[in-house]
Amino acid sequence: MTHKILLVGPQGSGKGTQAQILSEKLNVPAFAMGQLLRDEVAAGTEVGMKVKWILESGHLVSDLVAAEVLQARLKRPDVANGYILDGYPRNLEQYGMFTFDEPTHAIVIEVPREESLKRLGGRLTCERCGKVYAMSSGSSIGDPCACGGSLLQRSDDVPEAINRRLDIYDHDTIPMLAKFEDRGILRRVNGVGTVKEVQDRILAGLEM
Ligand SMILES: [Zn+2]
Repeated sequence: MTHKILLVGPQGSGKGTQAQILSEKLNVPAFAMGQLLRDEVAAGTEVGMKVKWILESGHLVSDLVAAEVLQARLKRPDVANGYILDGYPRNLEQYGMFTFDEPTHAIVIEVPREESLKRLGGRLTCERCGKVYAMSSGSSIGDPCACGGSLLQRSDDVPEAINRRLDIYDHDTIPMLAKFEDRGILRRVNGVGTVKEVQDRILAGLEM
């Protein structure tokens, strides 16, 4: 069976973790757009050189170029049995350009905003090595990391910044879900619970 899965969810929904576990279970690759762009640059392909130039000149990679990178990736032999696309497309514009393949499932991991804020807002990062710690596990700002650096809260992880990203998700990503609903491939999964509980719900959602 082919599994061409789009994994959708707000920041803090745990979708990256779920994508990795699912990838091993189904034996299909999982990728996020940021990684695809970096891989393409590293591979030095024609489109990779274009991406490199765009990034080096300080611009954002356009939806059109991102779609081109994805299209090239989906031609590789390791996606013969499918793939898991983590967090792409994320709005109607990107959805509109994703015309070169037919996903079989769109799984949305739903997490209430308070939960996302709690998960992301409690994140501390080591200023030196980048290791992430959780306030819920007893870490505080200024605590020492094992490497000798000290923990701080990144500006991306303050509540205002998280709220802004969640607003973008509500405004840009939620309207796209109707498209998948129309195609009959949308499954909504409750993202509150342990990693294992959420994974089981995703697997149940794939049996459709
Ligand atoms: Zn450290």
